[in-house]
Amino acid sequence: NDDIISFSHLRDQVHRRTTKQVFEFTIMVVGESGLGKSTLLNTLFLAELYKDRQVHRVQENLSQTTDIEVRQINMTERGVKLRLTIVDTPGFGDPVNGEECWKSIVEYVDHQMDQYFHAESGLNRKRIQDMRVHCCLYFISPYGHGLKPMDIDLMKRLHNKVNIIPIIAKADILTSTELKNFKQRILYELAENKIHIYSFPQSDSDDEDEFHDEDQDLRSAVPFAVVGCDSIVQTDGKTIRSRTYPWGIVEVDNPEHCDFLKLKKTISIHMQDLRNITSEVLYENYRAELLSNEDS
Ligand code: GDP
Ligand code: MG
Repeated sequence: NDDIISFSHLRDQVHRRTTKQVFEFTIMVVGESGLGKSTLLNTLFLAELYKDRQVHRVQENLSQTTDIEVRQINMTERGVKLRLTIVDTPGFGDPVNGEECWKSIVEYVDHQMDQYFHAESGLNRKRIQDMRVHCCLYFISPYGHGLKPMDIDLMKRLHNKVNIIPIIAKADILTSTELKNFKQRILYELAENKIHIYSFPQSDSDDEDEFHDEDQDLRSAVPFAVVGCDSIVQTDGKTIRSRTYPWGIVEVDNPEHCDFLKLKKTISIHMQDLRNITSEVLYENYRAELLSNEDS
């Protein structure tokens, strides 16, 4: 099924050994409210999956004021068992949630690291459920002039704990020239504020890697400009996911219209790398810090 994240992109990075285990991956969306986070998650995974797959709602055991929604999807693809965890967060910036909301996001990420740490230090280490967040899609408003102070602040709180992939929300409201400038502006501001975003693994340029061009193409699209689907249009027997306007439609899966496909590809191609960075770099830092705090 091409409409969901396809794990066939996993390019042999999942070893044979893994097939007996469950391949776990967690993705989280973060950003101001109303930017289309829930819509995008739906476009990426849920709408299609609700039909014939198993979706679990996971009990949240954080404080009640937070409204973080966690869902899990179990699937098997080419013999590999996958458990995808999807974390939808309430947007911040609306007066109801106020400041508490970003706190709950950071807490959630920390809490997953803590849980893993405790499980790892426990007796039964064979079956640790890995709920650490491997990828955070950070939604940037297309209405502003660039990053907002709130974005910079929250990204700085998150970037040492989770792989951030920046996204320009509601890209349909920008013209292509505006979008090009906006992307540059965002990249500039991220660098200026020393915010680390997920950097794709570099393929050797002398080594004529078959994926080199594709990687280049994906990398140059960052921050991905996305459009969430609101309608399904049937033309010539083809199903087109789109956003419909009085003047026409924006096709979600058309690379000429937005970067949705590129985002989807990036996640699926680099899933193993996102996991590795999470456990080998981000978690190790977290763990080291935790242990040094215990010592002192
Ligand atoms: P969230 O608060 O970030 O989860 O945002 P929602 O997914 O609930 O969407 C908020 C509103 O924005 C809804 O009315 C959506 O239909 C609309 N929306 C979602 N995605 C897009 C998009 O790509 N473009 C435009 N113009 N509107 C969108
Ligand atoms: Mg939402």
